[in-house]
Amino acid sequence: MRPIPRSARFANGGVSFWFRESGLPERRAPLPGDADYDVCVVGAGYTGLWTAYYLKKAQPDLRVCVVEREFAGFGASGRNGGWLTAEFSGSQEDYAQSHGKAAMVALQRALMNTVDEVVSVAGAEGIDADIVKGGMRVVASNAAQHERLRNNIDYLQDWGYWPDDIHMVDLDHAPPIAVNGAVAAGYSPHAARIHPAKLVTGLARVVEALGVEIFEDTPVTEIRPREGGIRPAVVTEHGTVRADHVVRATEGFTSTLRGQHRRWRPMSSSMIVTEPIAPELWERIGWEGRELLRDAAHSYVYAQRTADDRIAIGGRGSSRRSGGSEGSEGTTQPQAIAELWRSLTALFPDVADAPVEHAWSGVLGVPRDWSPTVNLDAESGLGWAGGYSSSGVATSNLAGRTLRDLILGRSTDLTRLPWVGHEVRGWEPEPLRWMGTKVVRGLYRTADRRESQAEGKAHTSRLADLATRMPGN
Ligand SMILES: Cc1cc2nc3c(=O)[nH]c(=O)nc-3n(C[C@H](O)[C@H](O)[C@H](O)COP(=O)(O)OP(=O)(O)OC[C@H]3O[C@@H](n4cnc5c(N)ncnc54)[C@H](O)[C@@H]3O)c2cc1C
Repeated sequence: MRPIPRSARFANGGVSFWFRESGLPERRAPLPGDADYDVCVVGAGYTGLWTAYYLKKAQPDLRVCVVEREFAGFGASGRNGGWLTAEFSGSQEDYAQSHGKAAMVALQRALMNTVDEVVSVAGAEGIDADIVKGGMRVVASNAAQHERLRNNIDYLQDWGYWPDDIHMVDLDHAPPIAVNGAVAAGYSPHAARIHPAKLVTGLARVVEALGVEIFEDTPVTEIRPREGGIRPAVVTEHGTVRADHVVRATEGFTSTLRGQHRRWRPMSSSMIVTEPIAPELWERIGWEGRELLRDAAHSYVYAQRTADDRIAIGGRGSSRRSGGSEGSEGTTQPQAIAELWRSLTALFPDVADAPVEHAWSGVLGVPRDWSPTVNLDAESGLGWAGGYSSSGVATSNLAGRTLRDLILGRSTDLTRLPWVGHEVRGWEPEPLRWMGTKVVRGLYRTADRRESQAEGKAHTSRLADLATRMPGN
């Protein structure tokens, strides 16, 4: 393999390229001591901030605070691929089993509306997050991927996407994106490119202006449920917050909290970004509509064309060992960088000379069934949302609005959605879960190789079917 061209400005970690570009925010003051609120949210990512936002909008006199270990956006919300989409990682069948098919379809439609909700709130609140709603294109580059893409679109059209919401495109007439070896593509309009760090820091600013207090540099050591007449509590080294309701919005970091270590497995996911690509090369590539772009491999990659004409790419195949990276600065293993660069240059061979400027990683929260959840336990006073796996940018907004309704005691269309109160058993203990993940990833990689044009398998490899059936794939 030829060496990966690195920019003279190459950096690895440092939270993310997005924060390097927009500048790390000045830290807000920590919790000054014991305090009392109506609602205390733990974690200042999208989930926590959207919850605070919608609560304050609905009831301006509610006393709400957010307690954050580092700074707003330090987690996945400031590091992700900027894919604001209606995709979610859960199993349609599982949700339908508990609530009926119509409820699952309602959830899918709610996620589509959520894409527009985020775009519209960002516009209304003056958050400039480089948003372009150009839709999403999924590209197949061999016969097996083509067949799978078609089947997947048929499947989704049975679960809430109508033909206008997702369909195959005629590559001869679609706006050009010169993906090497593309044989087919699917398209959904329900997707927008965002700049993750600008969205989360803008949201924090807006929430604060509404009167929510955000305490940074304040690690929470324990969340205590209501006991008898004693209200729920958030315990930190700077003091304890008492509140009527406490919301846990810690996603991939949840396993570090007491009693939560097997709930959502922390999985590290990585990204790279190139230097800005020359206009002559963009003329050859196209991609003028700034659609989000993904391939149809099992170890898929997803990419965006940034506002300043770079390509940022991340992928399922780059996930690494669970645990270990929680709270980290996001330093990325050379192997993950190499895998992403190989995928990037397979899609766009001409980009092989564009130097890589930054690599970083973040942590996702993955439930054993990969299905996200939102909930409020009235007895304990504790609420939570997460387990979004790799699709949390839109889902966290839907979670925030749902938590608002649950906390305010409203029974609404949102609180009736089937992911509300969804429960799943915990993960196996380590090292079993880590070994399982390694096996699944190996199977997917081999399946991708067998389906490649070089090996020419025309249908989805049985190895991928096997991986899909493995627990916690
Ligand atoms: C590399 C990468 C790429 C991704 N790409 C996409 C994408 O393109 N599209 C998409 O939909 N999703 C994507 N995701 C997932 C998405 O970013 C997340 O699902 C979403 O940001 C989760 O938001 P959150 O607020 O729930 O969690 P986070 O943003 O992780 O926020 C949790 C916060 O809790 C704080 N915290 C943790 N523990 C404590 C504690 N003990 N005390 C106080 N505070 C604490 C953390 O510091 C953090 O700020 C990606 C994730 C990663 C890592």
